[in-house]
Amino acid sequence: MSTRTVAVLGSTGSIGTQALEVVSAHPGRFRVVALSAGSNTALVARQAVEHQVPLVALATGSVEDVRAAVAAAAAQVGRPDHHPEVVVGDDAATVAAACGADVVLNGVTGSIGLEPTLAALGAGSVLALANKESLIIGGPLVKAAARPDQVVPVDSEHSAIAQSLRGGRAFEVRRLVVTASGGPFRGRSRAELADVTPEQALAHPNFAMGRVITTNSATLVNKGLEVIEAHLLFDVPFDRIDVVVHPQQQIHSMVEFHDGSTIAQLGPPRMLVPIALGLSWPDRLEDVDVPCDWSLAQSWEFHPLDDDAFPAVRLARQVGEAGGTFPAVYNAANEVCVDAFHDGDIRFTDIVDTIERVVADHDGSEHDASSVDGVLAADRWARRRAAETLGLASSASTQEAS
Ligand code: NDP
Ligand code: MG
Repeated sequence: MSTRTVAVLGSTGSIGTQALEVVSAHPGRFRVVALSAGSNTALVARQAVEHQVPLVALATGSVEDVRAAVAAAAAQVGRPDHHPEVVVGDDAATVAAACGADVVLNGVTGSIGLEPTLAALGAGSVLALANKESLIIGGPLVKAAARPDQVVPVDSEHSAIAQSLRGGRAFEVRRLVVTASGGPFRGRSRAELADVTPEQALAHPNFAMGRVITTNSATLVNKGLEVIEAHLLFDVPFDRIDVVVHPQQQIHSMVEFHDGSTIAQLGPPRMLVPIALGLSWPDRLEDVDVPCDWSLAQSWEFHPLDDDAFPAVRLARQVGEAGGTFPAVYNAANEVCVDAFHDGDIRFTDIVDTIERVVADHDGSEHDASSVDGVLAADRWARRRAAETLGLASSASTQEAS
């Protein structure tokens, strides 16, 4: 494999920092040509110096502050001054995404990832996609913009499915089986979920991830988003995408073929392999992570999902089937509810209840799902409606402005 140029969007987050670890661990395989983050200037500056990155993009702050942070980071490690191009502002991630890198890893959180996703595809880069939200809200747009094999999933379940699909042909696939940890509240009834706290929701049993996805893992909204993601990535209808709860998260997902054979992908519950495959697909890098240890006695469990306690997946199937702007509404309402939950304004069970109400209120014919403006208008509508439903009027106007 020759050296690939890589742009890392969301470089300061959980996915982004692990992507840079993979890059560092494989000298000569990758050259980082752009970094993008939200507001963590100090960390992105250190990363820029370490990887000698020529383009640094931040959503907030000022160009001068970023330059000063890069100079300080260079001085701190005794490196000569480094002078990257610096872009600051709402569109900064999109500028970085459009830089023409061989691979753009989108590790931004939330629906703000849509325009960077489209920019990367438009520039002809391979899109290593962790930001599932952009695919879910912009499904038809993203699919129309992507040539075959241009999107490589980084989400571990979808990476597992992509790897398992190498075991057969598309017409031989009968079902996809997406595994779910069940989150920190697995086994609880709906009544037992009413009083759980944000701290408890952030205590994911296996993974250390950003706040939104960790909360989504507790509500199972993440699994709902992943079912829609699987449908869009692999063109399998919703009634042939199953979810099974597998608390140990050693099996990352499976593909059942029409002869009755099931191929699964296994590994420790970490993101390094899916991230590395996102950067190097279809090649595998060496020694990215340790394999399962078969010298240890261990038991792996599987349980059906409790749709009554965790209705998020059932609701996601409905919005996925409805298509259009419904998935965008599901996602945007969730993003508002996650913030409100962490701000102490609502209860845990209010999150999915509110998404359900906002989805029920949505008139799918109002916005055009085949244009970016239409999708983003539906996203804004859902944020406003979620905030109104929750009685958070001020948050509605903040979100509307953003
Ligand atoms: P984090 O919250 O850890 O990181 C989010 C990143 O996005 C940070 O680098 C943040 O920068 C950056 N960011 C925020 N706003 C902007 C903006 N306007 N422009 C550019 N960058 C911005 O999230 P995760 O890494 O956990 O998740 C990232 C994505 O990957 C999500 O879509 C998630 O669903 C998906 N994913 C994550 C997994 C995981 O293990 N973490 C597993 C599978 C999927 P700053 O630090 O400056 O705020
Ligand atoms: Mg996942």
